[in-house]
Formats: sequence, structure tokens, C-alpha cells
Amino acid sequence: MSVAKEFESANAKYAASFTKGDLQLPPQRKVAVVACMDARLDTARALGLEEGDAHVIRNAGGRVTDALRSIIISQQLLGTREIVIVHHTGCGMLTFTDEVIRNKVRSDLKQNVDHIAFLPFNNLEQSVLDDIQLLKESNLVLDVPITGYVYQVETGKIVKVGESK
Ligand SMILES: [Zn+2]
Repeated sequence: MSVAKEFESANAKYAASFTKGDLQLPPQRKVAVVACMDARLDTARALGLEEGDAHVIRNAGGRVTDALRSIIISQQLLGTREIVIVHHTGCGMLTFTDEVIRNKVRSDLKQNVDHIAFLPFNNLEQSVLDDIQLLKESNLVLDVPITGYVYQVETGKIVKVGESK
């Protein structure tokens, strides 16, 4: 059975007791979370988020450069006024360089992706601080409170690394 099929049966159970069909479109807690896509990080449970609470923008590493399009939409059209960044221990982004993945794509797919910045990092805490700084300096992002955390996949805890304001 494909995973998609498994999702269909899981969703049937979810929908059977679903009671949140009247939520508003704008996130009620007015926050956008930028988090790594890592499978071990369950942002809803780890941060106490319910349906309708927040925008959760996920990508490899939880890098804000990759999330900028969504952050602009979140702030300009849907009223979020706080940003939270969540990177995590054991992140795959600590394990490779742009050169490594570019070479792999060149070898496996016969494609040149030298123009793509894959945004890996070698210092976890610094990656969070860099992303806070990048948002603070961006003219496309509102001057809102920004807090950055490292989620510990070993303990389930978030550890604050930095904040603006
Ligand atoms: Zn990660």
C-alpha cells in the first residue's frame, strides 16, 4: 500500500470527528513560524498549535531566504505580526555543502544547479542568528518581533538562540 493510500484512511478518521470547519483564514495568533521540514519535528505538538493558529512555513533547514515569498504573503495579506524560526539538532543541513549536492545532481540527473543556493550550514546556532538578522535587514519584511530557537530532537525541547526587539 502506498503512503498516499494510508493517508486516505487516516484522513477519513480525522474528518469523521472534525469540528473546525468555520475557522477564519488569517492565523488567529498572528504568527508565522519558519521551521525545518525534518520529519522528527512536529511543529503543532511541539509548539502547541491548533488549526487556525499560525502559518507554518517549512523547508530544508527552516531557512528564511527560502520562505520569503510566504512571509510576505503572511504579513501583507493575512496579518501576521510575529515570526518564529525553528532549526534543530541533527539537521541534515549540517551534513553537506552546496558543492556536494551540486555534484550529486550533476552526476545523477545530468543537470547543472550551480545557480541554486541550497543554504546548508555548519553552525546550528549561527544559522538561526543569521536568519533572524536576514529578516531584520530585509525591506520586504515588517519590523516585528522575531524569535529563533533550536529544537532538540533528543528531548523535544526548544532552546532560545536569539530574538529581535
Ligand atoms: Zn533540519
